[in-house]
Amino acid sequence: MARISRAIGVFAAEHIAAGLVEENRIAGSIKYFPNATSEVDSLEEMPAEEILDRIDEQIAQLENVEEVEAVGVGFPGIIRDGLIHESPNLPQVKGQDLATALSFKLNQRGLKARVHVLNDADATSAGIAATRGQLDKLVRVWTLGSGIGFGRYPQAEGVWEGGHIVVTIDPKEHFCRCGGLGHLEGIMGERALRLRFLDLEPEEVFQHASEGDQRCMAFVKVWHRALAAATATSIHLDGPGKFFITGPNAKYVQTGLLDLYVHEMVKMSPLQGSSIEVVRTGDDIAIIGAAVSAKLANQMRDSP
Ligand SMILES: [Zn+2]
Repeated sequence: MARISRAIGVFAAEHIAAGLVEENRIAGSIKYFPNATSEVDSLEEMPAEEILDRIDEQIAQLENVEEVEAVGVGFPGIIRDGLIHESPNLPQVKGQDLATALSFKLNQRGLKARVHVLNDADATSAGIAATRGQLDKLVRVWTLGSGIGFGRYPQAEGVWEGGHIVVTIDPKEHFCRCGGLGHLEGIMGERALRLRFLDLEPEEVFQHASEGDQRCMAFVKVWHRALAAATATSIHLDGPGKFFITGPNAKYVQTGLLDLYVHEMVKMSPLQGSSIEVVRTGDDIAIIGAAVSAKLANQMRDSP
């Protein structure tokens, strides 16, 4: 009988969630820090060393992990070979070798599995691919929240900071957290939205637009056009395919409008045929994606 393939997945973005993954499914319960219902951005103020300890703590609470093949950690930022090169939302972790540090901690507790760290949105896209039986396909995902994440499965060499794709050359567009001008996140990100509409909450902007407020209606069009532009850029660089949209602000997306704008922006015939779908993703999807990515990374490393 074939051995059941087990890996641990961790998602550490606004909070930490860890689970054991068996054959692309969560086995047992997910462990959370701080807990399942809290919405506080608890990692933001936390020193890097403590984030590491909290991740280790959640893994320590998982059961039946003696024979796991790999540990995958989805984490926000630009990550290469386990090292966090940049993490605009969690600047304290910049320069941390998360994979080595976590491996060391796990080893001390007798857990010998290899640790693979990847971008949180990449973990989400791998999770969508795994849970929809699309591990043989190209899957891209936009995560719409405080910032804008871009995930790609399969993982590929490169930086892939899709949230910072330039979607306008207007130098007045300066709301992106990274400081760059004209970025997608500077238009779509929730933080940028608050800076643009100092008198309105983000949900009020969309509410007022639906009630016919001209200023808000004009902005909601720009918001969609920006996502269409970034999607079109991805299509022009990486080819057509399936795009998923998720995250707390995905609820504002009008797929029909987005489709229309993408069609206006992508005209070459070999690049036609992309589709866009809004999906709900939770910690479970990202945990599965992190675990599956870690297993794949192991296979890549072990294959001659
Ligand atoms: Zn930016």
